[in-house]
Amino acid sequence: MRRVDRTIWRKTAIWTIVTVPLLVVIPIGFAAELAADPPAFTPDSNAARSAIPAVFKWNLAPLFPSDEAWDAARLKLLQEIPGLEAYDGKLNDPVSLRACLELYFQLHSDGNFVTLYANLRQSTAQSDETANAMVQRSLVAMDELMQAAAFIRREVLTLSTENLEKAYSVEPGLTEYRPYLDNLRRRANRLLSPEAERVLSLLGDNLWAEIDLNEIPSPLESAFGALLTDIPWPEITDEQGEKVRLNLANYGRYRASDDRDVRRRAVAALFGTLRQYQHALAATLGGQFQLDVDYARARGYDTALDAYMDKDGIDTKVYDNLVSTINANLPLLHRYVELRKKALGLDEIHLYDLYIPIVEGVAVEVPFADARTNILAGLAPLGADYGAALAEGLDPANGWMDLYPHRDKGSGAFSVAVHGPHPYVFMNYQDSLDDMSTLAHEFGHALHSDLAMKAQPYSSFRYPAFLAEVASTCNESLLSEYLVSKATDPAEKAYLLVERLETIRGTIFRQTMFAEFERQVHGFVEEGTPITAALLEETYSDLVQRYYGPGYTVDENDGMEWAYIPHFYYKYYVYSYATGLTSGIAIADRVKTLGKPAADAFLAMLAGGASAPPLELLGGAGVDLTKPDALDAAMKTFEETLNEVEKLIGTNSGGP
Ligand SMILES: [Zn+2]
Repeated sequence: MRRVDRTIWRKTAIWTIVTVPLLVVIPIGFAAELAADPPAFTPDSNAARSAIPAVFKWNLAPLFPSDEAWDAARLKLLQEIPGLEAYDGKLNDPVSLRACLELYFQLHSDGNFVTLYANLRQSTAQSDETANAMVQRSLVAMDELMQAAAFIRREVLTLSTENLEKAYSVEPGLTEYRPYLDNLRRRANRLLSPEAERVLSLLGDNLWAEIDLNEIPSPLESAFGALLTDIPWPEITDEQGEKVRLNLANYGRYRASDDRDVRRRAVAALFGTLRQYQHALAATLGGQFQLDVDYARARGYDTALDAYMDKDGIDTKVYDNLVSTINANLPLLHRYVELRKKALGLDEIHLYDLYIPIVEGVAVEVPFADARTNILAGLAPLGADYGAALAEGLDPANGWMDLYPHRDKGSGAFSVAVHGPHPYVFMNYQDSLDDMSTLAHEFGHALHSDLAMKAQPYSSFRYPAFLAEVASTCNESLLSEYLVSKATDPAEKAYLLVERLETIRGTIFRQTMFAEFERQVHGFVEEGTPITAALLEETYSDLVQRYYGPGYTVDENDGMEWAYIPHFYYKYYVYSYATGLTSGIAIADRVKTLGKPAADAFLAMLAGGASAPPLELLGGAGVDLTKPDALDAAMKTFEETLNEVEKLIGTNSGGP
């Protein structure tokens, strides 16, 4: 569920990217007490949207009151974009620079309203042609703005530091844009000659792209996607003995089947099929990594890792520290694998035994009203102000949420915001514990946006991807703590604790394993070793054995898993899932043990938006990812949870 959210966060980032102004003050001070219970409702994903009570649907009026108003705003934006031309070649002049940035960010904000409205409208009416056309039109407008504004970056990068410092003193209004300008100029020494820049941009260089580097797939990523579409996936026999066609969408479900034969067959069929296409898949991945290395070298970086970390302003030490600290803690993962093996009564544990529940029979229904009560109580340690904003957003009558699934609604969950109106939260709430956790997660994102927009101007409120998953996972951790503390039934408690173990396994251990694979294979490219399917398989298979430990049985095809993971095409992106959850857990832990000062520091980080470099903001919340402390705290949480689960289900797998 959270994985889906991340994808959407990434895919929709087009309007989140180009950071940026518009100072809108939102009235604070809502009543902290809960609004009246919303009407009871039974979710039905086949229902028509019209069958869902209006109170559970979001209200887009704060963006635009109607499609006509939206179109008028879009046309007005298109008319105003050429106004930027007046500043082309004049940014040496402090007054022009300020005026230009003011106009640019105003247009950018207008563009965000236009794009967000179209996207939200489309997300609940996927086959509606009008909505789809609106999305396309909004993207065209945004693209036009980006092109018209390209000179700003070019000129800002060539200003001398001395002249810019003078400009701040003669034109104090410029200070508002300082975080944006600092971030833009941070890598000015990597800028090449105009001719070289032109060639790199024609080739699709993503190291210097103004928009999110994952928005536009490279030709290699497109080829990979096309290949996965073309591969004829095999049929397998399901739990009822029926033949079903396996595909990447249903693979996860069959891999987690209660029927061990079904899940074994699903994994064998998927990996066996991938093996038949291994050379083509190795060529697309090897090609992508070669491209990453080429772009890095074109700008004088030693490694692709250095280049892509620098793009986001992250010290490479963060990456190294993640990999080495998680490696030092692998015995804990080995213990968990042993625990699974014993709890499931297996002689051998295979990949297809990693995704099934080990605690049976906990089918808790959590209607929305209960989820809301639990989330408010669970996040209470973050303080009254946070609680008040949360209560505001969780009151369906306020129009933040589109809560329930219906026909023609997109899948997954996400949260988005423009500067000014309240954030929006998209859910497919179906009364499960997991849905409650997802709701807490999305409200982490929503409140992060809410706090940042109240504290920052448009040009520096949009927090970077690196920080995004800190707020969301901190909320999940706090909720989990609360639920465990309230659980009276041992089975329910064990279930909640195993969920926590699974989250840490999937998000910290597994993503770090991916990160290690990415670094190793980029390293092969950098030293000139040819990337073959055999090399990728061997590298991956060794990692699997090392991560899951001596108790795990590596199957013949386990080393093929690299072949279908799209994230390897995202250029050093996966590590941020691991650092996000690590920071979230570490902060939740600090809030629990240190109380108000830790909560306040965390809220200050959220309110900071993008007003300072990400590691600096995170440091303010007490997390330094260049050192092992936060990772150790997350690992301690994993260990303590393991201890408790072992006690609860009466299995001792040999821990201390
Ligand atoms: Zn998220």
